[in-house]
Amino acid sequence: LHADLAPDLPRFLQGDPIRIRQVLLNLLGNAVKFTDRGEVQLRVSLTKMSSGNAAIVFSVTDTGPGITLELQERLFQKFEQADLSTTRQYGGTGLGLAISKELVVLMGGSISVNSQFGKGSTFTFEIPMRLGDQPKFRDGENQERRHSHRLSVLCAEDGLTNQMIIRSLLEEMGHDVDIVEHGVDAIKALAQRDFDLVLMDGRMPYMDGETAVRCIRSGGTSDIRVRSRDINIIALTANASQEDREKYLAAGMNGFLSKPINEKDLFEEIGRVITVLLRSGHPLIEMPETASEPMVLGPPTRSGDLHSIPAPFDPLEAAPSDSLSSWSHPQRAPASRLPAYSGDPSNMMQRIAKAFIEDAPQRLEAARINIMAGHAQGAALEIHSLKGAAAYVSLTTLQKKLEILEKLADSGDLAVVAQGLPEVETLLLEGISSLKKILNHPAHD
Ligand code: ADP
Repeated sequence: LHADLAPDLPRFLQGDPIRIRQVLLNLLGNAVKFTDRGEVQLRVSLTKMSSGNAAIVFSVTDTGPGITLELQERLFQKFEQADLSTTRQYGGTGLGLAISKELVVLMGGSISVNSQFGKGSTFTFEIPMRLGDQPKFRDGENQERRHSHRLSVLCAEDGLTNQMIIRSLLEEMGHDVDIVEHGVDAIKALAQRDFDLVLMDGRMPYMDGETAVRCIRSGGTSDIRVRSRDINIIALTANASQEDREKYLAAGMNGFLSKPINEKDLFEEIGRVITVLLRSGHPLIEMPETASEPMVLGPPTRSGDLHSIPAPFDPLEAAPSDSLSSWSHPQRAPASRLPAYSGDPSNMMQRIAKAFIEDAPQRLEAARINIMAGHAQGAALEIHSLKGAAAYVSLTTLQKKLEILEKLADSGDLAVVAQGLPEVETLLLEGISSLKKILNHPAHD
């Protein structure tokens, strides 16, 4: 894989890095996938430049099998119209290029293919961009792990453990977060007040993430209108396969974060969103140097009648001063000194472990009730949520078992799911008792 960047490319441009990256990933991914021998070449060049505007051309050339004329004509068509036999014949979802085209067009550009059957293909897209200035980041911002601006984030996520994690991470980074449990409440929240970013779980009760995003992009429901249909929405996905990504992109998501959420990825993704928002002229509040305005910690106060989670316990008071053994860390800064992202996960992990101990048995019970009532979907949802929570507290065996049961519940095989419950229950009880031990007797190191 070679990359050839023209020497006259402007150093700074104003564009949408998330979308450009997605298109490049699609094209480069295909090129590498289809090329058994030879090479893949990425070229980036400048074609036009006039009074602050530039047109940038990206091309991806491979020495793969090439594409027949007949297929070339259909390549960028939306999957709904695609001939099923193509998918069957060539594998894949047949979605990548249609989405690439959509993204390129959204950026005001165009995309085309030039291919000789048996010799290889070249995909080219051109995007107009404004010339940019060097971003005004504070010195050493990355080392400091501090975002330049504070975002108001809405998170739609039904699992208590996930909610805890996302709230902790975002607040420790200095952002403001409101949490709702499903798509319907997310839409209500977006109708009530302005947010800068939405983190949207895929699988939720009442309305899943994909449906919610489609609804938001179309302005809301007939009686609940969202304030901004263009808001940045990042999908939280447990199994972010290429297929999932394409599905979510097609629904209108702007990016992805894989669950379990990793703080570094979240930090970077939010940094990217801030850059994109600033570039587009979206007004943002600067991150205060010190946390003299403590908007963090404690139950949310300004969400009106939004469905927000109650704080199940006071994490800072309840937590022992030492950390869980596997997450042990030096003393954290006092809470009032937040919101610089401290990078210290120990307290958060204690919060998560406690949330898990409280929440997990209820989830299992809810799954059992759903199974008894013959509600496969409800059972799958509860099992899914418990699985995600198990991943966070590193109960891997339990997580794997639940993954199998979730699939079975998805396929409606509730009798088999029921047979698996006793084992899950044992694993859960064992897991909870080991978490309790660690919480009560934190390792000293
Ligand atoms: P997917 O890769 O998921 O099938 P795409 O829309 O990305 O979806 O591609 C659709 C089809 O176009 C592929 O299945 C393949 O047949 C063909 N194709 C795409 N890129 C190339 C390439 N670089 N070389 C040969 N065939 C390609």
